[in-house]
Amino acid sequence: MARQGNIKISSENMMPIIKKWLYSEKDIFLREIVANASDAITKHKKLVSLGEAAPQDAYKIVVSVDEKAGTLSVEDNGIGMTEEEVETYITQIAFSGAADFLEKYEKAGGEGIIGHFGLGFYSAYMVSDDIEIFTKSYREGAKGVRWESDGESVYTIEACEKETCGTKVVMHIAEEEKEFLKENRIRELLEKYCSFMPYEIYLDPKGEEDKPVNTPLPLYAKQPKECTEEEYKTFYRETFHDYEEPLFWIHLNMEYPFRVKGILYFPKVKKKVELERGKVKLYCNQVYIADNIKEVIPEFMMLLNGVIDCPDIPLNVSRSFLQNDRQVQKIAKYITKKVADALCELYKNDRDKYVNCWHDLATFVKFGCIKDDDFYKKVKDIIIYKNLDGEYRPLESFFGEEVKEEDAKEGKEPAPVYYTSDENKQAQYIKMFKEAGLDAIACDNFIDPHFISYIEYKMPTRVKFLRIDADIAGALKEEGEDDTALRGLFEEALKDKKIAVKTEKLKNGSVPAVINASEFMRRMSEMNSFYGMDGMEAELTLVVNSGCEAVRALEEAPKEEQAAAAEYIYLLALMNYRPLTPEELSRFVEGCTRYLMTSLKKN
Ligand code: ADP
Repeated sequence: MARQGNIKISSENMMPIIKKWLYSEKDIFLREIVANASDAITKHKKLVSLGEAAPQDAYKIVVSVDEKAGTLSVEDNGIGMTEEEVETYITQIAFSGAADFLEKYEKAGGEGIIGHFGLGFYSAYMVSDDIEIFTKSYREGAKGVRWESDGESVYTIEACEKETCGTKVVMHIAEEEKEFLKENRIRELLEKYCSFMPYEIYLDPKGEEDKPVNTPLPLYAKQPKECTEEEYKTFYRETFHDYEEPLFWIHLNMEYPFRVKGILYFPKVKKKVELERGKVKLYCNQVYIADNIKEVIPEFMMLLNGVIDCPDIPLNVSRSFLQNDRQVQKIAKYITKKVADALCELYKNDRDKYVNCWHDLATFVKFGCIKDDDFYKKVKDIIIYKNLDGEYRPLESFFGEEVKEEDAKEGKEPAPVYYTSDENKQAQYIKMFKEAGLDAIACDNFIDPHFISYIEYKMPTRVKFLRIDADIAGALKEEGEDDTALRGLFEEALKDKKIAVKTEKLKNGSVPAVINASEFMRRMSEMNSFYGMDGMEAELTLVVNSGCEAVRALEEAPKEEQAAAAEYIYLLALMNYRPLTPEELSRFVEGCTRYLMTSLKKN
């Protein structure tokens, strides 16, 4: 005899909410139903190990699509349910669980619960008009039970024939959700959510030859000792569909005081100028939750590719709760520490590999330092920079003496560390530096401007960075007075240009003038353009080399030629600083031609 019962009075309110609110992520229903099947098998396995249930042949979950009948079914050979259990678990526990979820969901403002985890059985009503459950408990003498409901308020429960123990959930897919009756769509969802679930899952099996759609023992769940290099690479390829090999990886395996398993891969950087976003997939007991969850995984780790399984994270709570959860904070700290340790180890044990990978690692390491002080402290000694000879050395080895605190208070600054940002554009400055036996570091990563500011902020008495074209380093010039006459001459000739003039006697006598750009102003204008603002222009100074023969000759030249020659020297210097505008270029070409003519005529 079939019996009927009422699910709960408030269900009239709940179903429309389930259907509408979660509409954007309705896919998760399949994860919830398959995860229930997997749990039921785990429970059965446990009972067998306790001698309380008879062993099963082989545990498996079968997903089948019947387009004609309009049904999608998930069948397991797990623990099953008796009639009372169906009553309790499905119509009471599952229902109140779903109601509970919705309440939290509402409070958390919709997007608040990560991966919509914990909605449970009733999530299947997002895509179904009606659901049937056929189940039989593992208990001896148990009878089959059929439960059915349209999810609104009334359900039917009755006896039915069922041979083996376990549960089959038959979802009658709603008219507008027909996509879930396509085998390919279901395969895609199983691959997304169920790839690493612990029991074999088959989709529409046709015979002996069938392969499960998942990997019940994913590599990350194994002991690191048992995994080979080839397996790590294969796992990477299959999980991230990246055919470029990863640089190296870190296998996390922690049991106590919390459980974290996973593998983090350092990918090769593909584009130089862009923060290439990686993907860190979060799992809970081999069930996929979501990608790049910043509440659990430190934000800068998301430049990596990886899978992390944290069964201890409370997932059916709001994101703001997660953010403040001590356990979650500890897990994030642990992951950060492990990554820093692995980098330090590589630096120590395989310096060549470290240096070779540095180009790809640098963005991650620098970004990590800016974002996370603990990480910075651990890796600060292994941050390396290339010098003018192309050799990599630890950043701190370029620093000078620490400025004493009392001197710093009086405004004394540490000796500058010079840097280049573009070897080609700054070639002239580099040449002068090399001739004078000076060194500079190459800051060619797009994150470097931020990073060096960060380092200055961390070590104000230790370092100050100056771009190689920001001023004339002491070793490049002779001591001497400002040549006011010369300066006046250039100031007059360049009075309609936005440029200051000063004179220096440079050791290199062949360079008539160079441009210096104030470090501070240049950084400000770079920051502005980084944030999409404009307006501020870098402050330029023309440094005229009073030790250069051509400059001296200019002083001797007839008055009417001086202004043209000064402008020509200015353009020459400017060219070594930035590309000329079309007007500047044509002025330069005019000048060049004129001087060529004069010198040819002379001979
Ligand atoms: P949860 O899985 O979070 O407990 P659900 O709403 O998904 O919540 O399910 C409620 C309960 O129904 C489960 O705890 C379980 O006891 C029972 N159940 C659901 N699916 C199955 C199944 N396939 N086999 C046995 N029991 C099940």
